[in-house]
Amino acid sequence: MNAHHSPIDLHCHSTFSDGTLPPEQVVAQAAARGITVLALTDHDTVAGLPAAAAAAQSAGIVLVPGVEISVTWNGASVHIVGLGIDPASPELSSGLAHIHEQRAERAREIARKLVKAGVTDADAWLTEQAPHNCTRMHFARFLTETGRAHSPGQAFKRFLSRGKSAYVSVVWASLADAVNWIVDAGGAAVVAHPGRYNFSAGRLRQLLEEFAALGGQAMEVNYGGCDRGQINQLCALAKRFKLAGSLGSDFHDPALPWTRFGQLLTLPDTIQPVWQQGPLARFVTQHASL
Ligand code: AMP
Ligand code: MN
Ligand code: MN
Ligand code: MN
Repeated sequence: MNAHHSPIDLHCHSTFSDGTLPPEQVVAQAAARGITVLALTDHDTVAGLPAAAAAAQSAGIVLVPGVEISVTWNGASVHIVGLGIDPASPELSSGLAHIHEQRAERAREIARKLVKAGVTDADAWLTEQAPHNCTRMHFARFLTETGRAHSPGQAFKRFLSRGKSAYVSVVWASLADAVNWIVDAGGAAVVAHPGRYNFSAGRLRQLLEEFAALGGQAMEVNYGGCDRGQINQLCALAKRFKLAGSLGSDFHDPALPWTRFGQLLTLPDTIQPVWQQGPLARFVTQHASL
């Protein structure tokens, strides 16, 4: 990490969703690479937060409790990150519990479709080895490890992406539900990786307008792989909707070099950082060096 790199990273995953490291190791890697404020944001679960908080305390860094909620907006999947949430919030817990049921049901349907497509051991794998919070990435790794694809990316292309033989569509939480659960839990709602939805500029503006009107507070203006030009463009877009800026690596796996901790560029001072106001300020201002 050098002076251009941010010591703050507000988006990453552990084995409680589709990351490959347990929370303790995620925190240890982040700390070793110079991160001093880290949010763990597993897909649709807060179950990894206690272990992450304990590890952060040992490492002397700040752990911001987070979550990444799966949303269906106008037929498309959108991810909304919640930062600084109370993991015990009843509204959030019951919302996430419903998504877990949807994930479990979808996993059974994906396995059935894979069996039909000739992956005859998919059902057995799901019964014997599938994780509690099953994502498509788990199927992608199973398909890679058993030689049905060369990489998880290829497993998505061949089987798991929309339109492919084992794709199962789900209507996840609404945008309003996700924002409300996060705000009710005392957190800040953040639109994750806005450039990864393949939306037209107009559609993205519509999402941001609705999100801001619902009480959403921020947008990621820097996520894995963004350069200065992209960050500046994203900042201009966020400001148009009076959204603060957030940043996060979306780290999943140390084998993927582009998602390493400590490689995110700092935010320009033209945007209000999400951690300097609102629900996150209490976490971050505790930290003397910031
Ligand atoms: P799910 O929420 O279960 O539908 O799984 C989505 C997760 O799979 C995302 O969070 C990514 O980590 C991963 N993913 C989605 N599409 C791809 C892709 N084309 N290549 C690799 N990983 C993907
Ligand atoms: Mn993921
Ligand atoms: Mn995401
Ligand atoms: Mn993510």
